[in-house]
Amino acid sequence: MITCRELYDFILGYQSGELAPSQRKEFDAHLAICPSCVNYLDSYRKTVALGKAAYTRTEEPASGQVPEELIQAILAARKKKARRLDGEGPFS
Ligand SMILES: [Zn+2]
Repeated sequence: MITCRELYDFILGYQSGELAPSQRKEFDAHLAICPSCVNYLDSYRKTVALGKAAYTRTEEPASGQVPEELIQAILAARKKKARRLDGEGPFS
């Protein structure tokens, strides 16, 4: 049985399908008994997905894949930042 630490080392290979069948078996066996590693793998996948989404946005800004709310949130954050830099905040 592999440890949590070993599972982390295997994740990259697991994701890209490069694990040997025996390693893959150990990996799945560990996930079956370790909820915290299931959570870790889940958040790892989400992080990878987010990274890919960010990359896609940079390459194709007009792809229409970005939710309108997110664009508005980014624009609002930029405005706030710009205002602060200009010294026109409520406390100046
Ligand atoms: Zn574990």
